Amino acid sequence: MKPFVHEVRSTRIVFGSGTISQVRAEVERVGGNRVLLLASKRLDDVARRVGDSLGPSLAARFDGAVMHTPVEVTERALEVLRSNSADCVVAIGGGSTTGLSKALAARTNVPQVIVPTTYSGSEVTAVLGETQDGRKTTRAAPEIRPETVVYDVDLTLGLPVALSVTSGVNALAHAVEALYSPQAEPVTDAIALDAITRISRGLRALSANPSDVDTRADLLTGAWLAGTCLGSVGMSLHHKLCHTLGGSFGLPHAETHTVVLPHAMAYNAPAAPEVMERIARAMGVPEAPAGVYDLIVEAGGPTSLRSLDFPLEDVPLAVELATSRSYPNPREVTSEGVAGLLANAWHGKRPA
Ligand code: NAD
Repeated sequence: MKPFVHEVRSTRIVFGSGTISQVRAEVERVGGNRVLLLASKRLDDVARRVGDSLGPSLAARFDGAVMHTPVEVTERALEVLRSNSADCVVAIGGGSTTGLSKALAARTNVPQVIVPTTYSGSEVTAVLGETQDGRKTTRAAPEIRPETVVYDVDLTLGLPVALSVTSGVNALAHAVEALYSPQAEPVTDAIALDAITRISRGLRALSANPSDVDTRADLLTGAWLAGTCLGSVGMSLHHKLCHTLGGSFGLPHAETHTVVLPHAMAYNAPAAPEVMERIARAMGVPEAPAGVYDLIVEAGGPTSLRSLDFPLEDVPLAVELATSRSYPNPREVTSEGVAGLLANAWHGKRPA
């Protein structure tokens, strides 16, 4: 028997097709009167549609969110929020835009309505990662967790396949690490396994018809469920490594998750054999780490750190940074072990 604690944390979820038409009602629901709209230029069309629907409630727009939430960008957005007396944030975009929204909420307690367009899952966590002076730090607080998430499958139909694959594997990583988290419990286990089934099914079907609504609904539902795991239990070695590679070496978030995940799983497999069996069953493959690697190859995702332009000579520094503090992990984290893991990931070797 394994004792556990389960706590329900609430974010209101609106899921469907065409749901961006409900953003205004959701803003009213959280008491917003003057909205700061966050959306990158790339998502201008959607931002305009949402902006128009908000009418006079739209106070200002900011399009400068970038990956890993640099504090300088947050300060610029904060100035826009304050000078326009905004009392609510609507963020349309991936994890970077959501991150900026959370950084604003952390500083002002402003309510947030998030409209995700990738599978990062950040929208359902109370965690904020920020970068300052080349170091990424994370913190968690109740005010960081968005009040409402509006998932509109239509916004993901045109998400480029390459981005969909890496973002989908990023989501998969949340579910995988939730299963061997020290806080794992029956509810997050069930959610994680369903997320793994949906995401692997979605990624296999994606290239044949990237705008298939059912495939996209599988991926977006899986991303929400996996994000819920991320927001509920602690993550381990895989996330720490990706955090180091992203925050200290500037590697792209979702691509890094995609390359590292099969290797982090292979590292942990001897210490968590039952979890690996459950993952393999949920995916319908014989072995979980190799199954994830093959899924990435089949979907056309990146498999090596070399392909992300990570210099081999930086591996020792990455090992040092990733092992400088201890954290829970099924298998003991050693410098030698992590060096071997990163070497395999650099070469893109298929786990045995
Ligand atoms: P992202 O938000 O940077 O998006 C990647 C790219 O995709 C961007 O160029 C963006 O403009 C583009 N894009 C987004 N949606 C699109 C669409 N529908 N169509 C076309 N292009 C689109 O990347 P991401 O992987 O979603 O998020 C990464 C960031 O999120 C990182 O900073 C990471 O640390 C953070 N994150 C945080 C948490 C958390 O819980 N705190 C969880 C996951 C990720």
